[in-house]
Amino acid sequence: MEINLISDTITVPTPEMLKYMMSAEVGDDVFGADPTVIRLQEKMASMFKKEAALYFPSGTMTNQTAIKIHTQPAEQMICDKWAHVFNFEGGGAAFNSGISSSLIDGDRGMFTAEQVKKAIHDPENYHVPVSSLVAVENTTNKGGGACWDFEELVRIRKVCDHNNLAYHLDGARLFNALVEKNETPEQYGELFDTISICLSKGLGAPIGSVLLGTKKDIKRAVRIRKLFGGAMRQVGYLAAAGIYALDYHVERLAEDHQRARVIGEALNDSPFIKKVEPVETNILIFYTSDDIPENNFVEALKKEGILISSMGEGKLRMVTHLNFTDEMLDRVVKVIKELDL
Ligand SMILES: *Cc1c(COP(=O)(O)O)cnc(C)c1O
Repeated sequence: MEINLISDTITVPTPEMLKYMMSAEVGDDVFGADPTVIRLQEKMASMFKKEAALYFPSGTMTNQTAIKIHTQPAEQMICDKWAHVFNFEGGGAAFNSGISSSLIDGDRGMFTAEQVKKAIHDPENYHVPVSSLVAVENTTNKGGGACWDFEELVRIRKVCDHNNLAYHLDGARLFNALVEKNETPEQYGELFDTISICLSKGLGAPIGSVLLGTKKDIKRAVRIRKLFGGAMRQVGYLAAAGIYALDYHVERLAEDHQRARVIGEALNDSPFIKKVEPVETNILIFYTSDDIPENNFVEALKKEGILISSMGEGKLRMVTHLNFTDEMLDRVVKVIKELDL
């Protein structure tokens, strides 16, 4: 039995999801004529009480499209130093939108309204780039699945309003936060100008992300998606997986979180582990003891058929997901307990 804890993107569709996908009614979505894509978009927009939604092949493309909507070349985006939009999108913000990024030194990928205030440039000072966008990530990826305090997000909204900044949420794993903190999609829809949501992470669809916003923003997003090469044809087969995931794979995220906590306890008890970051959702980040090279730990687990990833800077990561069962959990805990390095 191979156990893959590298990412929640490694999941394959369940037989039920596949069946639902195969029976989708489809059309040419480049002409806006795929009924299943339209159904997914309307479902998401109404869940979040946003005016409109648009289906994309990837979360990188939804984020990059949002950045392009909210900025002009030479302007600046404010985000955390660990943000996906800055670190893991290939430098796309600079390439696609011609902007620079002002990085906040946050805590596990999260920052405060005060820190945003300090990062905003004086619009009268023509030596410095114009600040035009604040991007936050919930849950934080590099921050170990941490969830924001909603009140802080509200305070940041106020700072954005006072300074005429757009407010984008990279909600690749927003549903993990909603389930964990008992928050609602409407709360987030009301707060942000645009939200990007991945269907292909914890929700278990094979592909797909959705961008939410006003009708005006989504109209621009249609053009930008085309420009980026992301307009697709009979893509309803894939959008159907997203609809299925929203109906059947949201509540169950709590199980992923519970399993991650159990692994976290086992790691905390291990003499080879120095520190485990707080486990809030489905991502575990931890560090081996000073005398144990991180790669030795990764290799020892690999010998037992358990795959995990190293994020550099001494950080190791495990992610629980739809294809990670209780039986696998028992095995992982046993291996960690019996490990001899
Ligand atoms: C995965 C992820 C994305 C989007 O990634 P794609 O692989 O392009 O779908 C965006 N933001 C965060 C925080 C992510 O974890």
